[in-house]
Amino acid sequence: MADLDGKHAIVTGGGRGIGAAVAAALREAGARVTIMGRTRMPGAWIECDVADPASVKLAFAQAGPASILVNNAGQADAAPFLKTNLELWHRMLDVNLTGTFLCTQAALPGMVAARFGRIVNIASMAGLEGFSHVSAYCASKHGVVGLTRALARELAREPITVNAVCPGYVETDMVKKAVANLMARGGSEAEARARLGTILQPAEVADAVVRLCRTDSQVTGEAIVLGDMGA
Ligand code: NDP
Repeated sequence: MADLDGKHAIVTGGGRGIGAAVAAALREAGARVTIMGRTRMPGAWIECDVADPASVKLAFAQAGPASILVNNAGQADAAPFLKTNLELWHRMLDVNLTGTFLCTQAALPGMVAARFGRIVNIASMAGLEGFSHVSAYCASKHGVVGLTRALARELAREPITVNAVCPGYVETDMVKKAVANLMARGGSEAEARARLGTILQPAEVADAVVRLCRTDSQVTGEAIVLGDMGA
């Protein structure tokens, strides 16, 4: 499938996990991919802390205009609500929500000028439902879904689509941390994994992202659920 031939795609946090799978799938579909993140990667990589406005401005200026933006960079720290301190609260909102806002503001003018754009935000099922011990993460991802819906409406007359992908658990470092947290409360790894429900592979999320990026895709303003988050 070479539908994205010649298109420049930026994937934030594309060095590992879901972002790396998305970058690989976009490349396979013919796109030229720039990865942005804090940890140096081989290939087309630009340093960027998505929570830092100056860093985002510099990184997007270096990258040049893009047709596709995948806002994937994210962090997921857990704590009971009364142990959620202001540092954790701000970090979840700054990286997951403000990061998405800043990168989208940086990429959108180029898309408007080129009269083509695909923005895909990697939200979470926690952007649509509440889960215990992750109130700050949940709040940030609900924010990402709200931002996605509002911007899609605002751009409805432009040839630019804006969607969110909302996976349940996906087999990355984030799941390893969730499994370790559950095991710390007692039980085996198999029991912990069973409690998480279906665990998707990053490539399954990447497939959904690439479908939304296709030049003939009309889908916009959607929050697409993938997998589940256990019972
Ligand atoms: P990983 O922890 O494996 O990867 C996270 C990526 O985000 C890394 O590349 C990291 O790179 C980057 N990142 C983190 N903070 C920043 C920052 N401030 N600036 C730039 N990049 C940053 O996570 P996943 O692949 O699992 O998660 C990717 C996205 O998918 C996240 O938004 C997450 O919330 C979402 N998601 C994940 C699920 C899961 O079960 N795994 C389920 C649902 C949604 P570096 O540290 O080098 O900056």
